[in-house]
Amino acid sequence: MKSQIPNPKSQIVIVGAGPAGTSLAIRLAQENYKVCLIERERFPRQKLCGEFISPECFRHFRELGVFEEMLAAGGERIVETAFYAASGKRVGVPSKWFNDEGGALSLSRAEMDFRLLERAKSLGVEILEEFSVVNLSYEKDEIRLVNLRARDGGAKEVFADLFVDATGRARVLGKLAEKQKFQIPNTKSQISNRLVGFKTHLENVSLERGVCEIYFFRGGYGGLSYVENGLANFCFLVRAGVVREFSSDAEQIIENLIFQNKRAAETLARARPVRDWLAVSVDGFGEKNLRAAENLFAVGDAGAFIDPFTGSGMLMALESAEILAAAVIENSSAETIAEKYKTEHTRRFGRRLFVCSLLRRAAFAPALAQILISALSVGNTPRKFLARATRPREV
Ligand SMILES: Cc1cc2nc3c(=O)[nH]c(=O)nc-3n(C[C@H](O)[C@H](O)[C@H](O)COP(=O)(O)OP(=O)(O)OC[C@H]3O[C@@H](n4cnc5c(N)ncnc54)[C@H](O)[C@@H]3O)c2cc1C
Repeated sequence: MKSQIPNPKSQIVIVGAGPAGTSLAIRLAQENYKVCLIERERFPRQKLCGEFISPECFRHFRELGVFEEMLAAGGERIVETAFYAASGKRVGVPSKWFNDEGGALSLSRAEMDFRLLERAKSLGVEILEEFSVVNLSYEKDEIRLVNLRARDGGAKEVFADLFVDATGRARVLGKLAEKQKFQIPNTKSQISNRLVGFKTHLENVSLERGVCEIYFFRGGYGGLSYVENGLANFCFLVRAGVVREFSSDAEQIIENLIFQNKRAAETLARARPVRDWLAVSVDGFGEKNLRAAENLFAVGDAGAFIDPFTGSGMLMALESAEILAAAVIENSSAETIAEKYKTEHTRRFGRRLFVCSLLRRAAFAPALAQILISALSVGNTPRKFLARATRPREV
């Protein structure tokens, strides 16, 4: 007989304390579920991300009880995102096209993720930091426990009725489950594992306040915006072949490639990193396996990864956590949770992911980006239509 998973006495284990995992933990704790949140790092930690928090996230922050403190954390309010072709041609997307919240927010992930985690702690979520999930064990078709390795070398097992993979693009639990069940991973939309993301915080940038700028260049694109403490976050995504060409050196890529974008050459001319560069490989956009085992669900990037140029990955992480939380609270078995979650996930994200799969072609081809930016600079209507096609329909 299958266990009846979702009642407040059930133990729910969430792995990964990014916005998806922590917001899910908060939502379930608000309904008195017993939640254990497992995270490999100790917070606050730097995280590779454009750090652009789309204004639709604010509704989530309110519901999660962190809105005021997110706004008070010293980030930059972003009223416009400006896209620049290599020639310097510009097209702007005002944040107010997404909602009337007074702009997006540019805040470091170190701050944002830490504040969410502190909120989860205050609601009684059990938090295991510096523990990585390294394996899992099945009983019949259900996962019974995950094996953890502590940073100091120790080991631990955690049992639960329901497991959530919130480990981001790494999909650690999903991959372990697929391996153990000899399933073929869902590769439908994994078009490439040939991208690398870089990020650091910079001082001395020449950037207008309140604007997030996106630069297209051969083999990739990058985003620049102020965060807290007068620093700016610069994050770029580039084909791995290009990275090899420049010996994986972020500064060489900037000087020799990104500076071919006229606007980037102006804003970054005197910039200096104040931290080490972070780099990660980025593989596969689109929807992944939402349920790799009977009682294992994927949220956030582990469930679907949207292109960074939309600045809406964190929004999708918060939204997917919201719909999984609702499915868990409303339903009484893994089967019904899965049905509800899958249906809602497709309804909310299917169109957005499809639109981005088309726009992606332009993002990595400077000539196409130039044509698109020129075409979109003519009038507001097509630009507004396209920008909103990457966001929730309800807006
Ligand atoms: C180059 C780039 C730029 C981006 N820019 C933006 C942007 O400007 N705005 C935006 O909204 N989105 C952006 N995104 C997307 C955004 O970063 C993600 O959508 C978002 O972080 C997803 O949140 P998540 O909680 O699903 O996963 P993550 O934030 O990746 O969190 C996963 C967590 O799981 C932990 N973890 C991993 N493995 C284990 C393990 N084995 N055991 C325990 N814990 C583990 C990790 O340490 C991490 O804390 C960008 C992405 C990239 C690649």
